[in-house]
Amino acid sequence: MQRLPIAVLCLLLTPMLGQAQISRALERMEEQVRRSRDQMREMNERMQKDREEMNRAMQEAATALGQEGAIQRPGSSPVFASPLSQNDLDSGGLMLPRGDIKHSQGERLKVRDQDGNSVVGKLHVRVGDSNIVMLPDGMLKVFSNTEATPTEDNFVPLDMDAIEERLLQDPRLAGFKTIRSRRFLYVYNTSELFVRSSRTILESMYPAVQKYFKRSKVDVHEPELPLVVIAFATEDQFQEYRRMPRGVVAYYDGISNAVMFYERSALSQHAPEIAVKNAISTIAHEGAHQILHNIGVQQRLSKWPMWLSEGLAEFYAPTSVAKGVKWSGLGSPNELRMFEISKSWESDRSFGSGRVVRDLTNANELSSLDYAYSWGLVHMLSRRHQKELFACIAQCSELKPLDGTDLATTGVVDSDDVFSKHFGDQYSELEQELKKHLLSLNYVDPVANQTHYLVITGGRVIMTSSPESVKEIQRSSFGKVSIKRFPNRAAAELAMQSLTR
Ligand SMILES: [Zn+2]
Repeated sequence: MQRLPIAVLCLLLTPMLGQAQISRALERMEEQVRRSRDQMREMNERMQKDREEMNRAMQEAATALGQEGAIQRPGSSPVFASPLSQNDLDSGGLMLPRGDIKHSQGERLKVRDQDGNSVVGKLHVRVGDSNIVMLPDGMLKVFSNTEATPTEDNFVPLDMDAIEERLLQDPRLAGFKTIRSRRFLYVYNTSELFVRSSRTILESMYPAVQKYFKRSKVDVHEPELPLVVIAFATEDQFQEYRRMPRGVVAYYDGISNAVMFYERSALSQHAPEIAVKNAISTIAHEGAHQILHNIGVQQRLSKWPMWLSEGLAEFYAPTSVAKGVKWSGLGSPNELRMFEISKSWESDRSFGSGRVVRDLTNANELSSLDYAYSWGLVHMLSRRHQKELFACIAQCSELKPLDGTDLATTGVVDSDDVFSKHFGDQYSELEQELKKHLLSLNYVDPVANQTHYLVITGGRVIMTSSPESVKEIQRSSFGKVSIKRFPNRAAAELAMQSLTR
């Protein structure tokens, strides 16, 4: 594909006269060839750099989700008593002793809220002498028996005005703006475009998710509390609000019931379209967790099999940025996950043996590739085994707070049992069915489908998908460049061939 740069070809066509002129021309030509070799080397280096940047960015996008398991899984260490919870989740982690778990029968308790006011909270679950109580703003907090008095008064959740007021009093959110939709409250200092895109996604996703469950045996209801989304402009502000492991770009917090995320990531310099797609699908993913935990599908602090909980969130998360940022609809192929799966198939030919599905459905921790397979598995089951999938979800939606966590002494659910109970244990057959299903999906490679640029400067033509690289070339050529833009890599390659032919 890389041919001689144009300048050399042009020189060859120039008519030359006289011996002296010919030798000068030959010297010039040699000089040109030397230069073009240098340019070619430079171009190769740039393409290599672009590729590395892209891989790094994709890796970053992939780890963002892989990290998530560490934060929001009740039962994994950060949420409960452990050194990590004190450092990493200072205000959010629930410190609990091990002990007998007693499920709530809807008991109400008089407790002091964050401001010291006496309020009526709702018992969420009891562990030993500790009561996990839901406060009127939706926050879960631990109270000892001496700090909580039983009451017959009603639990009255705060409305959106009151929650907004409370949030804006937080000095870490000073100067933040708010917008609302019917069920969501957004507190943000991001760009308007970003927060409004997020709102569009969550608002269109909510009814679709709710409708999806109407066909199942799971009773869904309207959320009891407004769904809070806090959007930070930068990673620093996001980290300042609550310290998170590196790589986390968004999370649903089961303790406060809010979704947090930030707008800018390193990805946006080199692959802005993938960055937007990734950011938006992460929001959709976390939003799906939040919705499922508020409409009665998942009980807060219950422990679902990871593949199902994450697979469902990914199943609802696909987004498209083709014509403005939008949610592409429940169950459409998730391009970012498909990209990861197809890359792994290039290096691992053993897929189909049953090992991946068996390990995945038994896992308590997921890698980013596992997230991709969880998406694929839920997608396949939803299309090909919907009745069984609904039965499986219905069983899990009965899981009560702390059931299945290592704090519990009863109600422990083995992930693998849940899967094999509903789908059998013919893992190899299921995995081959999964492969067949994924191959049948109409999938567009998100990397090749980005905007690509041809940058023409002097005798050089450089192809890149990174706007940052375009700027760099512009700077180093003192602005003497012509830039052509193409909707995808194939179109850019075609144009490049005709330019350098
Ligand atoms: Zn998740």
